[in-house]
Amino acid sequence: MGHQPRKRFGQNFLHDHHVIERIIASIQPSAGQHILEIGPGEGALTALLCLSEAQISAVEIDRDLAEKLSANDALESLNLINQDIMQFDIDSLIQPGTPLRIVGNLPYNISTPVLFRMLEFIDLHDMHFMLQKEVVDRICAEPGSKTYGRLSVMVQVHCKAEILFTVGPESFRPPPKVDSAVFRLTPRPFSTPCEDFKHLDKLVRQSFSQRRKTLNRSLKGMVSSSTFAALDIDPVRRPETLSVDEFVRLANLSAPKPDELL
Ligand code: SAM
Repeated sequence: MGHQPRKRFGQNFLHDHHVIERIIASIQPSAGQHILEIGPGEGALTALLCLSEAQISAVEIDRDLAEKLSANDALESLNLINQDIMQFDIDSLIQPGTPLRIVGNLPYNISTPVLFRMLEFIDLHDMHFMLQKEVVDRICAEPGSKTYGRLSVMVQVHCKAEILFTVGPESFRPPPKVDSAVFRLTPRPFSTPCEDFKHLDKLVRQSFSQRRKTLNRSLKGMVSSSTFAALDIDPVRRPETLSVDEFVRLANLSAPKPDELL
């Protein structure tokens, strides 16, 4: 299409058909679904999504790309929105009885804010994204691993996170400097629902601020020894050994009560 990739929009376009087909096979678009693609770019994924029986919408910030996509006859069925995904009202796409799925080879420069914005929409069916592999490893990490940290807990408190496969730089134009990976997020109910996400984030951030410190040291002044005892969580454990559920229980019991905030 002759488009000059724009760095400020994080443009690395997929051109490897094997990878494109593998992503579509992971998504399995089908009739009765509504799929929102973030950043369709030159339409590498969009063209195959539009061949399925699912309803497809896409939000693209770049006006030049949006014009080219609109002029493409193969994308006639596409509902294209030329807007910044961070400003777009996703609720406007929700139709009762039609699950909304989100997909995207995300612009790496704004990947975490986009991800957290999507996580606010708990009515979603699922999400398939591609990001830098290093970030995907942290998102999908399990307790006990070196990469388990704040990002893992704050994403997994909303969703089950699974890494699907790795994609090398040569599959993109221009090639990024690092490997990428495709992953799936599936919202799920939790045994202990989180009562205050802001407090959980503060507690998790504090816990991992010095990974080698034990919880009673890093959370001093925030979590009392009686709270650790009430939850049967050993205060000399290190943060990376706590499950997401344990962090949630710790946050629920240590959150300031409304009268303490006055
Ligand atoms: N999906 C295409 C592909 O796989 O070849 C393009 C992927 S490229 C990594 C990211 C795309 O997101 C670009 O088309 C870029 O213009 C678009 N984009 C960047 N920031 C955006 C934003 N805030 N809202 C919507 N789209 C954005």
